[in-house]
Amino acid sequence: MIKPVGLSHWPTIKKIILKTAPISRTRLVKVTDALIQQHYDEHKERGWFSQLVKYFVGQYVLAVEISADPNKIRKIIGTTKPTDNANSNTIRGLISSLTPSDTTMTEYTKGIDNLIHGADSEEAAAREIELWFESPPPPSPKLLCLTNHKLELEGAVSPFVGINFDLTDGNTLASHVTDLLEAMPWNSYWLKAGNSIPKIVVGGLTPVSILGLQYLTTHTGQTAEVAWINPKTGTMQSVDLQIVKNRARRHRK
Ligand code: ADP
Repeated sequence: MIKPVGLSHWPTIKKIILKTAPISRTRLVKVTDALIQQHYDEHKERGWFSQLVKYFVGQYVLAVEISADPNKIRKIIGTTKPTDNANSNTIRGLISSLTPSDTTMTEYTKGIDNLIHGADSEEAAAREIELWFESPPPPSPKLLCLTNHKLELEGAVSPFVGINFDLTDGNTLASHVTDLLEAMPWNSYWLKAGNSIPKIVVGGLTPVSILGLQYLTTHTGQTAEVAWINPKTGTMQSVDLQIVKNRARRHRK
């Protein structure tokens, strides 16, 4: 399970995982109190349990099913504390190099987020796979916000809030965005006749919004209604991209 800070570093983490084993499936899940309490059930007596639960609730994590022995994966993940000497070549060991220079590691990780969790046995893996992959998806949202800041919009889903996308390499960025959108639980729902994709709210990270729009409209074959917040009124504006498509077609003749 890729933890919230780990989502910003998914391209790096994915590369390390793929050197060891193939990824079978992924699912982007908004953490609920019940999900994370069940996930960390073995720690419920610990003094830091409520802090741990509170950190996760409301944030997104990426469930990743990897076809490999859990012990092999635990080795590349490393020990609990990212600063352990033994962690120099592990995913968790990356945290010191990934912490932005204007913050401390404890602030960046909230003292909790060590990028990734790995099941510690086959039994735990089976239990966690059921928990993260089989939990019923929420209904398809009315709005999909491809922004990195939180917008208080009714019926909106904002899976990219808090994710620090790296804009320095286009190909990496495109894979990062599409990997996360591909992991959304509504992709097969949107492909069924009669089900339309949400209105897409763009803003902030412009390239991320464009890549997201391209992915979703191509994947579903649908046109999108693009929305943004009017800076003068603070209300939502939107336009159906079909208008732009129609004009472009007219000029092609
Ligand atoms: P691991 O994730 O390496 O299996 P544990 O099962 O011991 O480690 O702990 C589960 C998770 O709880 C850790 O990955 C970390 O995110 C969090 N955690 C561990 N110790 C503390 C602590 N003292 N305070 C807050 N969170 C902690």
